[in-house]
Amino acid sequence: MAQQEDVFKKLVSHSKEYGFVFQSSEIYDGLSAVYDYGQMGVELKNNIKKYWWESMTLLHENVVGIDSAIFMHPTIWKASGHVDAFNDPLIDNKDSKKRYRADVLIEEYLAKIDDKINKEVEKAAKRFGESFDEQKFRETNPRVLENQAKRDEVHSRFAKALNETNLEELRQIIVDEEIVCPISGTRNWTEVRQFNLMFSTEMGSTADGAMKVYLRPETAQGIFVNFLNVQKTGRMKIPFGIAQIGKAFRNEIVARQFIFRMREFEQMEMQFFVQPGEELKWFEYWKKLRMAWHQALGFGAEKYRFHDHDKLAHYANAATDIEFEMPFGFKEVEGIHSRTDFDLGSHEKYSGKKLQYFDPELNKSYVPYVIETSIGVDRMFLSVLAAAYHEEQLENDSRVVLKLPPMLAPVKLAVLPLVKKDGLPEKAREIIDSLKFDFACQYDEKDSIGKRYRRQDAIGTPFCVTVDHQTLEDNTVTIRHRDTMAQERAVIDSLGDAIAKQTDLKHLLKKIAE
Ligand code: ATP
Repeated sequence: MAQQEDVFKKLVSHSKEYGFVFQSSEIYDGLSAVYDYGQMGVELKNNIKKYWWESMTLLHENVVGIDSAIFMHPTIWKASGHVDAFNDPLIDNKDSKKRYRADVLIEEYLAKIDDKINKEVEKAAKRFGESFDEQKFRETNPRVLENQAKRDEVHSRFAKALNETNLEELRQIIVDEEIVCPISGTRNWTEVRQFNLMFSTEMGSTADGAMKVYLRPETAQGIFVNFLNVQKTGRMKIPFGIAQIGKAFRNEIVARQFIFRMREFEQMEMQFFVQPGEELKWFEYWKKLRMAWHQALGFGAEKYRFHDHDKLAHYANAATDIEFEMPFGFKEVEGIHSRTDFDLGSHEKYSGKKLQYFDPELNKSYVPYVIETSIGVDRMFLSVLAAAYHEEQLENDSRVVLKLPPMLAPVKLAVLPLVKKDGLPEKAREIIDSLKFDFACQYDEKDSIGKRYRRQDAIGTPFCVTVDHQTLEDNTVTIRHRDTMAQERAVIDSLGDAIAKQTDLKHLLKKIAE
């Protein structure tokens, strides 16, 4: 674990050193849980957004996009439940003065018990070798059984307390299980309190009686309130979806994990409107498709898992998370929720306007049910960086390389003249001028070729091309591959096609459309 945290620290400093992510307002000592994306970060982030957007809108005839405003009528947040129920249960440790989410403390405690069980199983698997029967071991080993019984007991208390919003019981679980503050190591806890996560501000001058408005805590509501606009003007037939990418704001209490939990972040959400009764079928459909989207990146299926919710939000009748193995454990990157007709029904009630669909096949009107897929751009960004980050020991050297999927890499090709004279820089520029319309290229002439390769490795550039004296004679260059470091000679005219073949987003899209 310590090693993993080490990797995480290195990832954070690497992100800064190479222009991926900066602390916001750094020269003023920063603003907590707010971050800026640098010159490399913005490219990677845009590529992630493009991958998501195109997978939604190009691959599905019946999914269209919108871009709604951050400010919305305040009653929307009443109708959505955010004014009354968008709360986190928080608890303070009186010694360290640190604030925690009570639910997160308990979840981490449960994860520790799981780890213990898994370690027992791993140990036994090693000891017994081929003849190991994991299921039998889990069902009979006394230590595993004891831990499992403990886990089940705490888990059922926890799920019940969450569902009933029983704050005293949440605290009691922390006390009974002797959960300590990771900083002070003590069990000196305050009561558990609810805390609303929405930021508010005022619209209009106070003289006219300003209106209290909120910074949206999710992009989804902008989709719901535009449901009929899009359905009518786009002549959409159910089932159909509306996708949106945009900023969201939450006044998070615990904001310590870099861009994992931010106060200003970006979401990619899609609401899919279906006939009531068909929602669970579509829930399964989107679950499968969203997992395929993640796995197409090629980081390995073992890095992802589904985690079904213990507590269903007030609007949901099925919900799961896609979790990714971050350096600090498996964490939610995306949520897939069956939201029933809660949102549209509630907006009907609060606005007094009908939000129904006339189904020509059934010859009747109804409020559609909704399946939502909701993913944080920044969390996705962090998962991609974490999976891509590698430190490699080479024969006489070491390197840090970001093994980014080439389609997402900020720079696809670096063109490097071997020396800064003899017409090599001019030749290198010529190559860039012919390829810059197809993908992002970078020119670099400073330092030795080895150092320049390292710089490109560190930002994840999949291809480097070196221009040398032979290039001037026969129009060939050395092309060097980031992951294998293999080098080969290629004619300049073949570069465009060869690189596009590996960096064009459509190859990723084809994988998930199969
Ligand atoms: P968590 O339990 O981690 O607070 P959540 O279940 O409240 O997350 P949702 O409301 O389902 O999250 O939001 C959908 C997605 O938005 C999440 O899967 C995550 O990727 C992203 N997200 C939510 N809150 C944040 C945040 N504070 N910073 C960055 N991304 C976030």
